[in-house]
Amino acid sequence: MGYTIRIDQELCISSGKCVADAPAVFRFDDEELAEVVPGGSADDARLLAVARNCPGRAITLVDEGGNDVPLV
Ligand code: SF4
Repeated sequence: MGYTIRIDQELCISSGKCVADAPAVFRFDDEELAEVVPGGSADDARLLAVARNCPGRAITLVDEGGNDVPLV
């Protein structure tokens, strides 16, 4: 199993990067804030890259042990 994805919409600046880079996992809601596609998945390396590239630092990945994955 892969990482659990959390998006803090308070931090999302609607850049669209995550949606463009992993459209199976991220989409915009009605307010153009990113949300996780239900049931969407991608490999951990891709998720890590997307989270690291989020300009709003809005994406958090949680590993199977319940710990936040370091993004730096
Ligand atoms: S990359 Fe970050 S700031 Fe851009 S849409 Fe996704 S969550 Fe929002």
